[in-house]
Amino acid sequence: MAELSDRMRELVQPHLRGIEPYDPNFTPTKINLSANENTYPLPSGVRERLDAALAATTLNRYPDPMSNSLRDELARRHGVARENICVGNGGDELLFNLLFAFGGCGRTMLTCTPAFSEYQFFADLTQTSVLDIPRDPVTFEVDAARVLAAAPSCDVVVLTSPNNPTGNLIDPALTREVCRVCPGVVLLDEAYMEFADASASALGLLDECSNLVVLRTLSKAFGAAGVRCGYVVAASDIIDAFAAIRQIYSVNVLTQAAALEMVKQRERFSSTVATICLERDRMYAALSEDPRVTVWSSAANFLLVRMANASTVRRRLRDEFSILVRDFSAVAGLEGCLRITVGTPQENDAVLAALDSLLREE
Ligand SMILES: *Cc1c(COP(=O)(O)O)cnc(C)c1O
Repeated sequence: MAELSDRMRELVQPHLRGIEPYDPNFTPTKINLSANENTYPLPSGVRERLDAALAATTLNRYPDPMSNSLRDELARRHGVARENICVGNGGDELLFNLLFAFGGCGRTMLTCTPAFSEYQFFADLTQTSVLDIPRDPVTFEVDAARVLAAAPSCDVVVLTSPNNPTGNLIDPALTREVCRVCPGVVLLDEAYMEFADASASALGLLDECSNLVVLRTLSKAFGAAGVRCGYVVAASDIIDAFAAIRQIYSVNVLTQAAALEMVKQRERFSSTVATICLERDRMYAALSEDPRVTVWSSAANFLLVRMANASTVRRRLRDEFSILVRDFSAVAGLEGCLRITVGTPQENDAVLAALDSLLREE
């Protein structure tokens, strides 16, 4: 990736001098399993209703800043009130806003790596210090004792359940304890929670944990990564803080209309989600029988797989089979690891066959 020019390094704020423009120089492939998107077609009937909703959307007026119709439908989904929800332009915007509001100079965010790289990125942008308590190098479970010991001096705790890229869940009992000892806010990033057992969600703790923030997105289970819609669920005064600092029109009218229609039709997505979970378990079973790879069980729509020559395997999957997966082998603790999104049965069969033939050669 390109660095900033010397001139720009002089002009930007000192703490931003090291950042690089993000342009992933994307290679189109036939099978893209690199970003944990839902690769299935929309459930039948959903696309038609979505198109009708988009066609009926007025474009010359500014959007409703707070996405209230969408908030009401999301509130129905989770059994909370509109006042407990703030919608964002993707979950990523809300992660940035969380650190903008509650982090900053002289403040500390606790994370447990390996984790979603955006946490560190947004901490850097907002000059928030990061306290990393690494996960177990073998199981990737969080070190609960160390997290609980450190949380009392943290302003923001970010836990991910299921975790990206390792697939582990956080026990809600641990979340409750962290909320109890942390004087700041505790974010549970549940971007992949639809693929896990419903009892794993921290949403049920919102009544007793007034500093808990749960993040959800339409990018994964709903197959709407391009729509850019995520939301947080939290106590109403936390939502007020999110509402006070957000870019007021960040969630555009087309996003609001599309998201509203999808959330209304949420029941229709359940069979795709169930199929993805079955496919995940089938892939896991196949890969765990293979002595050439290590695979971790996952509660999400992806699997983390370790092998020899992972970077070469990833490159050859792309160049010889037109299959794109994510290479994590340069990340501390993830040496030799690739992350493979669970796709359709045909895509998954292609991955298993391609991996088998490459692993014979590598
Ligand atoms: C995908 C993802 C998100 C949110 O993604 P958006 O597309 O911005 O909604 C948040 N956290 C994790 C861990 C993710 O993998």
